Amino acid sequence: MSNLPDPQDAASWSRYVEDFRQSAHASVDWIAEYLKNIREVPVLPKGKPGDLVDALPKHAPVAGESFDRILEDFRTQVFPAVTQWNHPGFMAYFGTSASTPGILAELLIAAMNTNGLHWDTSPAVAELEQVAMGWYREWLTLPEEFFGIIYDTASTSTMHAMICAREYAMPESREEGYRAGLVVYTSEQAHSSVEKGAMAVGFGQKFVRKVPTDAEFRMRTDVLRQMIETDIKAGLRPACIVATIGTTSSTSVDPVAECAALAEEFNLWLHVDCAYAGPTAILPECVHYFKGIERAHSVVTNPHKWLMTPMDLSAFFTRKPEVLRQALSLVPEYLRSSEDPRAVHLMDYGVPLGHRFRSLKLWFILRYFGRDGIAEFLRRHMQLAQKFAAWVDADARFERVAPVPFSTVCFRLKGTDDQNKAMLAKVAESGTTFLSHTELNGKIVARIAIGNLATSEEDVALAWKLLQKAAEEV
Ligand code: PLP
Repeated sequence: MSNLPDPQDAASWSRYVEDFRQSAHASVDWIAEYLKNIREVPVLPKGKPGDLVDALPKHAPVAGESFDRILEDFRTQVFPAVTQWNHPGFMAYFGTSASTPGILAELLIAAMNTNGLHWDTSPAVAELEQVAMGWYREWLTLPEEFFGIIYDTASTSTMHAMICAREYAMPESREEGYRAGLVVYTSEQAHSSVEKGAMAVGFGQKFVRKVPTDAEFRMRTDVLRQMIETDIKAGLRPACIVATIGTTSSTSVDPVAECAALAEEFNLWLHVDCAYAGPTAILPECVHYFKGIERAHSVVTNPHKWLMTPMDLSAFFTRKPEVLRQALSLVPEYLRSSEDPRAVHLMDYGVPLGHRFRSLKLWFILRYFGRDGIAEFLRRHMQLAQKFAAWVDADARFERVAPVPFSTVCFRLKGTDDQNKAMLAKVAESGTTFLSHTELNGKIVARIAIGNLATSEEDVALAWKLLQKAAEEV
């Protein structure tokens, strides 16, 4: 059997499309049931490493197979090995969810398969990205001069910030390569993507300074200043500060305005990572955390974290798009295109040439929920986090380890690291709830990160009940 259609034969082409129509309808029905009954699915798969590989054929089929067979294997073999990030009890790492407008947009994106290398290859990709990112930029309180581009992940966005920092400090590096001695400063609580970006771009791990934090895990800018001055005295060239609003472990908030003042004084690139907490800039009660962000040179926030967007969509903004362009624009003859000044060529602003139509997802989501809906969504989670924090505070067996500015609570059982790990393992065995851990002040700490559209107070209360029970058993 071959499913390959003959493009010259209208009947063959039509059979191919109708085959899709039927299976796509069935798949959409499956998705709707999946979302409706997501609570019934175990949040974590049961298998061990290698199970799925062993269950599937070693070699690809020679003859084509029917959608029915493929979908059947998806349901029975692949799906059971899926960790359910969409599950309301998934409160590990950062809670995320794929909302229906995002899922719908993803289907349309795949169907069109348009690729926005430069404006001419897809005006819609080039321009909808400017529109959707422009809307989001306003919500983030960033001034109009900030240019927005969508990459896959925050790690990629931050790597591009590093490329900008290198170009800003050493414009000759594009042509001549890069000599050692540029220094990046970030807090010891920053996400590992900062160090990885510095490694990838050639700064070198030993030129990444991890600035100590205060009792609330915020970057100490007095020490940052000392580090910068010491490096200058040693003949090094401070190049970049990365501040975080909503760090990965504790969701602490670095003093961005103080970082901006130092960046301005020493002429450094300031990148702000608000991968998780970014959307809360729309809440009047949170806007103070973002003070100074408008003075950053670049900002990253991930709608695929706390903005209901299916993986992947990372929003990168820069006040100096010309630096990004100088660093990365390279136009061989076969990629020459419109010289109209309004034609944005996304390939000029990043390492990848191909550019997915991700903005359609953001545009659908911002329109479907609206600012009010998104504000309510964020507040719901922040209120649940406050409730959970109060339960922890009221139970003498537990201690809370960090403030709760957003929707994540760090806490621990007053006991050993092993007891805390065992407690989390017991919770995970429930099948209904999954929490993860981190390390703060040298101790293993449990985290509950509320960020899923489907998560209700009952889910959070269930997590607390399971934790209390596990605390008695470990
Ligand atoms: N920055 C922060 C603050 C994060 O919490 C994370 C991931 O959790 C990242 C960056 C990396 O995100 P991504 O997986 O999109 O690279």
